[in-house]
Amino acid sequence: MRILVISDIHANLTAFERVLEDARNQWEYVWCLGDVVGYGPDPNECVELLRSMPHLCLAGNHDWAALGRLDIRTFNPDARKAVEWTRDTLKPENVAYLEALPTTFVIGNYTLAHGSPREPVWEYILEPVIAADNFDFFETSYCLVGHTHQPVIYEQSSAMGETHMIMPSYAKKRQLNGKRQIINPGSVGQPRDSNPDAAYAILDVETNVWEHRRIAYNIKAVQNRMRNVDMPDRLVVRLEHGW
Ligand code: ZN
Repeated sequence: MRILVISDIHANLTAFERVLEDARNQWEYVWCLGDVVGYGPDPNECVELLRSMPHLCLAGNHDWAALGRLDIRTFNPDARKAVEWTRDTLKPENVAYLEALPTTFVIGNYTLAHGSPREPVWEYILEPVIAADNFDFFETSYCLVGHTHQPVIYEQSSAMGETHMIMPSYAKKRQLNGKRQIINPGSVGQPRDSNPDAAYAILDVETNVWEHRRIAYNIKAVQNRMRNVDMPDRLVVRLEHGW
């Protein structure tokens, strides 16, 4: 079975639809690693589109923020404004959907989490030393995470736990080699690796072949909708820069 692996849609329907179009007829099931909402202008539309597909989805920190599960006084003012708007906009049935999301999921040889296996909702795996610490917190060969909005593979390269970072080669199939790995598909709706194109991956779970992908989408259309609902300008502008 081929899986469409997505994360951090962040209420960006234009990017989400573009990814689905790009991956059309190339998957049977969706794994979504969380943060379906937050920042973008289309929270209901993104939740409803995801719900219309065969999928499983994990809870992200922004999903929890939209549910009021987090104290957002520590968020910066822009993020806080986006959270409050999202909270006010989400329909009750979509709130109920987000409330039921699990924080981790183990399926076959894959563990799924939004942030990390150690701290599923919160931890950012931004460097090999953090990845190295996390290999003790899951039992499968592979762990898939989102949260940083940066596509990457961390591979445990020795029994001593040494871990190195492999940058993605886009549109190239990669045979996972049995070495333990923590893999991030990147973000659909708000990339932060200086590349504004939507990121996602295709995974064949029978052959363990992974493919990172990028696809350009109509950023202006999203920015216009964000301005229409008076989202903070910094959040609008960052989409075109990919940070
Ligand atoms: Zn996110």
